[in-house]
Amino acid sequence: MAKRDYYEILGVQKSASKDEIKKAYRKLAIQYHPDKNPGDKSAEEKFKEATEAYEILSDDQKRSTYDQFGHAGLDGMGQTHDFSNFRGFEDIFGGSDFSNIFDNLFGGFGFGGSSGGKRKNVRTGSNLRYDVEIPFKDAIFGAKVEIQFSRQETCPACKGSGGTGKKQCPTCGGLGQVRQSGGFFSMAATCPSCHGEGSIIQNPCKECNGSGTQKKRVKILVTIPPGVENGRRLVISGQGDAGPGSLPPGDLFVVVAVRPHKHFERHGYDLYCAVPISITQAAIGGEMQITSLSDKTIKIKIPPGTSNGKLLRVRGEGIAVISSQARGDLYIKLIVRVPEKVSKRGKELLEEFARIEGENTSPSPIPLSEIERM
Ligand SMILES: [Zn+2]
Ligand SMILES: [Zn+2]
Repeated sequence: MAKRDYYEILGVQKSASKDEIKKAYRKLAIQYHPDKNPGDKSAEEKFKEATEAYEILSDDQKRSTYDQFGHAGLDGMGQTHDFSNFRGFEDIFGGSDFSNIFDNLFGGFGFGGSSGGKRKNVRTGSNLRYDVEIPFKDAIFGAKVEIQFSRQETCPACKGSGGTGKKQCPTCGGLGQVRQSGGFFSMAATCPSCHGEGSIIQNPCKECNGSGTQKKRVKILVTIPPGVENGRRLVISGQGDAGPGSLPPGDLFVVVAVRPHKHFERHGYDLYCAVPISITQAAIGGEMQITSLSDKTIKIKIPPGTSNGKLLRVRGEGIAVISSQARGDLYIKLIVRVPEKVSKRGKELLEEFARIEGENTSPSPIPLSEIERM
């Protein structure tokens, strides 16, 4: 199915301002959010579609690429379509207290965490980010990478409780929230005394000073999916900091940087490489073998009369399309190498060739556009 135009998805003009785009997305996001339409596949699709459109159109650089080249221009730009953490929402609804604002405006409509009803613990432990650099080949075929980092883990001494002698927080009366009056409406803010827990600890744990967590160095194995693009963010849920008290842990975001390869380059799902051929191979054709990225031997036929820069395509030797059976192709660019030195005998043969074929000593110029197309 052809992809719909991003402006059409959001129902805005091509000239729409950032603000108009944000407003349009916000409206659709509220209407189609999966938490509001449980089990409704078409709503989920619409939500994803709108989120993707917003991701592109809210980013000046991506928007300008899209305006110039359409969807094709964005291929391989490393868009991340993980909808598990709704990053866009924080920008859109303004900062960390967005869930509170949301509660106020829309009455406890659940994003993220538990859906439905008023929930106190929309907060989690902190999300963490880990940058990992992987070889080109691992990005194409997938890999498992062990990473080591420090995070807050539940304190073993108090099992996360932070201590004993729990009592209701006097500041917020156990609500975990305090009301702050700001102009037209009052806003709920996390209680500064109990940090939203609703209770305080009278005898804090000595191991963790009552925080319920301790910093620990951990090793985890991250699965890099085949075909991952440079800059892609993988979300590993629940592997961030443990939350204090009963809060669930945050997520770990692994941002993948792909080291360039000596010979292969990626464009979308296709791989490109360049291979030198001789003037005789170019003129009369021939066969050769190259080793693909997967160390497979690929036989290639060079057609007679090959010009410098000719692209040969090997179907299916490109990159796996994530969560699909499809694969991109391998393109081999043939570069005709003119010998810098020719032996005496070689020179004689080339001279004879020139005599037989005849040399054009007054050629007409070729349009430059024809050369650039190679
Ligand atoms: Zn403790
Ligand atoms: Zn409190």
